[in-house]
Amino acid sequence: MPGTVASILENKGHAVHRIGPDETVFDAIGKMVRNNVGSLLVMDGDRIVGILTERDYLRRVALEGRSSRTTPVREIMTLDVVYVGPQHTIEDCMAIMTARRIRHLPVIDEGRLVGLVSQGDLVKRLAADRQVEIDTLRDYIAGSYPG
Ligand code: AMP
Repeated sequence: MPGTVASILENKGHAVHRIGPDETVFDAIGKMVRNNVGSLLVMDGDRIVGILTERDYLRRVALEGRSSRTTPVREIMTLDVVYVGPQHTIEDCMAIMTARRIRHLPVIDEGRLVGLVSQGDLVKRLAADRQVEIDTLRDYIAGSYPG
């Protein structure tokens, strides 16, 4: 379905960068930087136990004076993970992100992790959709008013 989370994942792929709760924050930051992402899903085997984003590092490590080399991920992650399903629309995701002040949403389908959408993914898709709309209108106007 166009305009859904499923259609974003079709283009973007289903990979989700993850980390274990007992790994250090230092390792987590390294992983984010290497993969050029702003969040890691914290997983204990197959179980989602939290989410860690750059913002957690800023708030709970940099600002509170913890050491990233000795602090485990579980100490600074967010426990209650908000997620969506593949059938959710882009507008649904934007509304959730705005209301909860978050920029990352894991996607769960029938209990299985199938991907993650970020605010960046949504903006990219909205911009592409707008461009299609503009091109269509431009073609229409050009066709209607020749010369
Ligand atoms: P973000 O804006 O995504 O960097 O996240 C801001 C704060 O919300 C951080 O404390 C994150 O751990 C938390 N957070 C981000 N995404 C989620 C999510 N899907 N569910 C729960 N908490 C989240």
